[in-house]
Amino acid sequence: SIILEKIHHRRSLQLREKQQEWQESPEGQKMLEFRRSLPAYKERDALLKAIAENQVVVVSGETGCGKTTQLPQYILESEIEAARGATCSIICTQPRKISAISVSERVAAERGENPGESVGYKVRLEGIKGRDTRLLFCTTGILLRRLLVDRDLNGVSHVIVDEIHERGMNEDFLLIVLKDLLPRRPDLRLILMSATLNAELFSNYFSGAPTFHIPGFTYPVRAHFLEDVLQITGYRLTAYNQIDDYGQDKAWKMQKQAAMKKRKTQITSSVEDALEAADFSGYSPRVQESLSCWNPDPIGFNLIERVLHHIVTKERPGAVLVFMTGWDDINSLKDQLQSDPVLGDPSRVLLLACHGSMASSEQRLIFDKPEDGVRKIVLATNMAETSITINDGVFVVDCGKAKETSYDALNNTPCLLPSWISKASARQRRGRAGRVQPGECYHLYPRCVYDSFSNYQMPELLRTPLQSLCLQVKSLQLGSIKNFLFQALEPPEKLSVENAIGYLKIIGALDENENLTVLGRHLSMLPVEPKLGKMLIYGAIFNCLDPIMTVVAGLSVRDPFLMPFDKKDLAESAKAQFARNGYSDHLAIVRAYEGWREAETHMQGHEYCWRNFLSIQTMRGIDSLRKQFYSLLKDTGLVNYPDDNASSWAHDEHLVRAVICAGLFPGVCSVVNKEKSITLKTMEDGQVLLYSNSVNAAAPKIPYPWLVFNEKVKVNSVFLRDSTGISDSALLLFGADISTGGLDGHLKMLGGYLEFFMQPSLSETYLTIRRELGELVQA
Ligand code: ADP
Ligand code: MG
Repeated sequence: SIILEKIHHRRSLQLREKQQEWQESPEGQKMLEFRRSLPAYKERDALLKAIAENQVVVVSGETGCGKTTQLPQYILESEIEAARGATCSIICTQPRKISAISVSERVAAERGENPGESVGYKVRLEGIKGRDTRLLFCTTGILLRRLLVDRDLNGVSHVIVDEIHERGMNEDFLLIVLKDLLPRRPDLRLILMSATLNAELFSNYFSGAPTFHIPGFTYPVRAHFLEDVLQITGYRLTAYNQIDDYGQDKAWKMQKQAAMKKRKTQITSSVEDALEAADFSGYSPRVQESLSCWNPDPIGFNLIERVLHHIVTKERPGAVLVFMTGWDDINSLKDQLQSDPVLGDPSRVLLLACHGSMASSEQRLIFDKPEDGVRKIVLATNMAETSITINDGVFVVDCGKAKETSYDALNNTPCLLPSWISKASARQRRGRAGRVQPGECYHLYPRCVYDSFSNYQMPELLRTPLQSLCLQVKSLQLGSIKNFLFQALEPPEKLSVENAIGYLKIIGALDENENLTVLGRHLSMLPVEPKLGKMLIYGAIFNCLDPIMTVVAGLSVRDPFLMPFDKKDLAESAKAQFARNGYSDHLAIVRAYEGWREAETHMQGHEYCWRNFLSIQTMRGIDSLRKQFYSLLKDTGLVNYPDDNASSWAHDEHLVRAVICAGLFPGVCSVVNKEKSITLKTMEDGQVLLYSNSVNAAAPKIPYPWLVFNEKVKVNSVFLRDSTGISDSALLLFGADISTGGLDGHLKMLGGYLEFFMQPSLSETYLTIRRELGELVQA
């Protein structure tokens, strides 16, 4: 070991020499000059001292002050200066794959190197790391995975967890694990870095660790909300169909005007309510639709295009940053803008995208200044909020939504639907416009919608449905679910965790001892609630995936059936026509969607929705979710038939009902048709009622012994939402999972249900099936 020490020492001296050489070279000097201009530089020595003296330090500072690129580098430099260059090992985690890669490239360049020398990176499925790599940028998921096999992080000297303010699930998970690890590794240093100021929370979690703030400065930014944006861009409240010649219905306009007056006085409680109440009534239906249910789809794109047009032709010079929800949107918007005569003109506009799958040459352009007279427009996801800094930004366009989770989780589960951001995020986005001079921010949503945003983004750990979270703990092999979750920074409720575990056992995702079953393992890989995941898996197994994907997508989006208060009867009969006496809200969605898909092939999707009181946004949402489900199922190997082959998939309605039952069980109630009414009962609540907009609510008789339902809500009585009638045999065969406690356990559980509902004839059937299945299993 003395020899090894000598080798290390010699290597450390070489590294020190190399570092000095670079710093004294002309390019190195230039780089140092830039680095010294960053606010973090003034705090360098104090930061290093604090880190040397404390096991945990919390660092906060404005975006762009130099946390990510500088702080890990300061530590590396000082270790090299102290001739520990060959033995230190610094790991810095990033929530996103792309920031891990781009930061490592940047830091390497600042050190006059290429990635793979002293600085490297490792993300899912790729990485560059050499023998001499001492500073490794990796995703949080990668470090969690390493912790599975190396519980004490042997050999690691510093762990830096970046962007903790985002409160991603992986980061919260990682903090639990690290907190547990610190006493075993007293020499290990932990540095937590955050953009905004909730440093106290983290400091308390690590028993009063010192906090450090790097002061920064930004110029004021003027906020324009949708009302102003529409004015600026020429959309006018009074001119009904000037922009968009869609509806010609005069009576409709009058009704809207009346509704507008009514709505103005409403008090808003949620974003959805705020949008309901928002004064969109003056716009034509198409504009309205894109506003009231904002989705950066082609209609929303037109608004963005208009805003950009305005900036490019009328405003002062300065780069523009457009916040979009995801890569798909960014790419489609980019295509659209490129065909615009002004925005697509490369002598006027440099149009760039900022997302994970772009080439690194394009990535670098984001930081460069364009030629004089050329305006830089960067289309980015919410990663540009805090993790990437565009230095010359003066204008920000904010669509107000984000796909919240963009983390590279261990099992790589993406979040499927965009949702509204928080006030903190909106402020952060706005702030991106004030780095070099006073800026302008265009929020593409009304002021009242902003007012109804929550203050802060809820931590992902508390936002993720608990059932999914419990599966996550198990699939990450983090031991007892309860023990683990209760140590979190902000732990979920005890009873809710217990309920979630109980539920997972019933549906067969966990066994008696809380171990993942095969079903559970598959469910943990699908980014949907377990019940929906189970439906998808069964749909794949029983070859009826096409309608089942529509059902699952339909349950994940807003109700596609519109019920305008002034046309309720018409809307109800439109829905009834989709229900076709099928006694199923879920099948009604399938038929509505299939009709829309058919109409779309003749370019009549819009009219179809208009005529049938369907939300076209929701139809499109279902369509896009279906595509995502399909590729997810394909990735996990659950389907292997070719894409776009939907028509050949089975459409056996009985089978589809049974698969819906497989997913929704134990959400089941018994149906007893009486002379004048129908009595519904669940095991837990006794008598229950149906929501009035269910297709089953108006039925005089329901010719099914059972209804499975998606959700129940307790108001005065318990109400069921979205239900489907199913037969005895469907319940018997699909009601619980056979993998739970084997066939016997399965039958016992069902037996409990049947006994409870005291249906003797069913018990007969049950006994027969039990006997036959028993014989089958014996055989
Ligand atoms: P923070 O983490 O505090 O938000 P960073 O360390 O990411 O700040 O960035 C510090 C500065 O370095 C910023 O001014 C940023 O614009 C600049 N910078 C970061 N990455 C690059 C890059 N790849 N090319 C040029 N400049 C960069
Ligand atoms: Mg940063």
